[in-house]
Amino acid sequence: MPSIQLLSEETINQIAAGEVIENPACVIKELVENSLDAGATKITVEISEGGLKLIRVIDNGSGMEAEDARLSLQRHATSKMRHFKDLFKLTTMGFRGEALAAIGAVSKLTLTTSVTKVGIKIEMEGGTLKSERAAGRARGTTVEVSQLFYNVPARKKFQKSAAALSAEIFRLVTQLALGSPSVHFELITNGRKSLSIPPSLSLHQCAEMLIGAEFATHCFSIDFKEGGLELAGLLGSPQIARPNRLGQYLFLNGRAIYCATLNFAIRDAYGTRLDDKRHPVYLLHLQLPTDLVDVNVHPQKREVRLRDERLIKQRVQEAIASAFNASAPPAKSVSFERPDFSFSALPFSLREEPSFSMELPFQQDETRILGLFVSYLLVEGASVSSQYDGLLLVDLRLVRFRLIYDQLMQSSSNKEKQGLLLPFTIDCTPVEAAMMLTHLDAIESLGFIIRPAGKELFLIEALPPFLQMEDVKPLLGELSQLLQEFIGKSDIEERRRSALALATARFAKNRQSFNVEEARELMRALRTSSDPAHSPQGHPTMVHLSRDELQKLFSN
Ligand code: ADP
Ligand code: MG
Repeated sequence: MPSIQLLSEETINQIAAGEVIENPACVIKELVENSLDAGATKITVEISEGGLKLIRVIDNGSGMEAEDARLSLQRHATSKMRHFKDLFKLTTMGFRGEALAAIGAVSKLTLTTSVTKVGIKIEMEGGTLKSERAAGRARGTTVEVSQLFYNVPARKKFQKSAAALSAEIFRLVTQLALGSPSVHFELITNGRKSLSIPPSLSLHQCAEMLIGAEFATHCFSIDFKEGGLELAGLLGSPQIARPNRLGQYLFLNGRAIYCATLNFAIRDAYGTRLDDKRHPVYLLHLQLPTDLVDVNVHPQKREVRLRDERLIKQRVQEAIASAFNASAPPAKSVSFERPDFSFSALPFSLREEPSFSMELPFQQDETRILGLFVSYLLVEGASVSSQYDGLLLVDLRLVRFRLIYDQLMQSSSNKEKQGLLLPFTIDCTPVEAAMMLTHLDAIESLGFIIRPAGKELFLIEALPPFLQMEDVKPLLGELSQLLQEFIGKSDIEERRRSALALATARFAKNRQSFNVEEARELMRALRTSSDPAHSPQGHPTMVHLSRDELQKLFSN
C-alpha cells in the first residue's frame, strides 16, 4: 500500500467548504448575493435556531434551467466569470463559483428553481446528490440549508449561541438591505417576521428604520457625479458621531466593502468637525467603473483596493466637503483651552485601563473640605495624604463616575434600582431591539427592569438611580452599539461588563453641582474605591497644587 493517497472529491470539497463557510451568516450572505445577481426584487430569508437548524432563502430572480441547476451545485461552476481577468471586475456579487457547492458539502441542501412554471428540485446531503425531480414553482429560486455543519462537528462546536447567531444575521440582512434599497427584504426568525423592508422606502426612510431615528434627523444628503465616479447617500452630522465604526455603511457598486483608503478619506473630510476619538456615521453608495477596482480574491474578505487611489480619494473628499458646505450650518470646531499655568495631576500615570492595585491616596481619616464651587471641591492636601502639601482640587463629577462604575462592576445581581410609578416605553430600531433581547440579562444587571412590549418596543419599569429618564434612550442605543461589537468575540464576559458599566456610569458625570453634605459623602466613599485617583476612563479625579506652585502663581 502506498502511504500517500489521493483525497476523495468529497473530502476535498469539505475542506474547501470549511474555508469559505464559517457560520450561518456566511451562508446567508452567499445565498442572498446570488439572489441579487439573479435580479431578484424580493428576497426572503428564514432562519431557525440561529440558522443552524434551517436557513431558507427565497427569491423571485431569474431562476435556472434544469441543466444549470445541476451545474450550479458543482465546484467552480459559475455563470459569472468567463475569463481570469473577470476576477478583477466587481460587477456581480459572486464570482468564484463555489459557494453553492461549499454550502452543499457541509449541510443538507435542497435547491428548487424554475425559469417558467415547472422547475427542478435537487436534494443533496453532505455534497452527494440524493434526489432530483420536477417541481412546480413560480420563476425564481429557493435554497434550503438544513442541519448546517452536521457532518463537520468541529465547526459546529465552535458556533455561538442561537441568539448571538440570529443577532449577527440581523445585522447582515440590514447591511444587505441598505446596499440594495430597491429590493424588498424580509427576515423571518423562528417563524416570526422580524424585519420587512419594502422597496418603496426612500434611502432616507430605510436609514431611519435600520440605522435609527437619530441618524435620520441629523443627516444630510450627498449626491455627486463626476467623470465616472458617483457618490450618493447620507452623511451623519458631526454631533452624532460615535465612539466606534458600527454606524458606517459603505457600498461600492452595490456591495458592502471594507476599504481603508476610503474610510480614511471620509473621516478626513469631516476634518476638525470631529474630535479624535469619534467616528462619523454614514450610508454611502459609491459607483466606480469596474476597471478601477481590484477585488481581493480571498474568499471571505470584502476588502478592495483601488486603482488611481489618489484621484478617487480626492474626488470623494471634494464631494463630501461640498455636501457639507451646501447643507450644513458651519460646525464649530471644539477646542479645549488649557489654563496658562498647569496644575500637576496626582503622581499616578494616566492609563486607559484603570489598574486595581493602585496605591490609595487616602492616609488620613477625615478629608478637610475648604470650599466648594459647583462640582469642584477644594481640599486640604495633607488631610488626604502627607505627600500632598498645599491644596487638592477634586472634580466631584469624576468621583461620582468612579464610584458608580465600581458599583456596576460588582458582580452581585441586585443593583440599586429606582422603580418607576409610571413605566415608560422606548422604541428602538430592529437591530437595537435584537441586541437588547439577546443581552437583556446583561443590561438588566446594570440596574434596569425592562420588559419587551412589542416588536421594537420596550417598557422601562426601573432604572439605575443615577440616571434621568431622558438618558435612557441614548444610553440603550449606545449599549446596543457596544454589544454589536462584542458579537463573535470569544472570552468577552469581563470586557463586555466593563464596557457596559463604563458607558452607563458616564452618565453620572451629567450631574453638574453638589452640596457640601454630598461632597463629604462622596469623598468618604472614594476612600474604598478601586482607584480613587482616576476616573474609569483614566482621567485624574483630582489635581495637586503644591505650596511651591501656589507661590509661583503669585510670583513672590
Ligand atoms: P457564483 O455566485 O460565484 O457564480 P455560486 O456557487 O454561488 O457561484 O453559484 C453558482 C451559479 O449558480 C451562479 O453562477 C448562478 O449562475 C447560479 N445561481 C446560484 N444561485 C442562484 C439564484 N438564486 N438564482 C439564479 N441562479 C443562481
Ligand atoms: Mg455566489
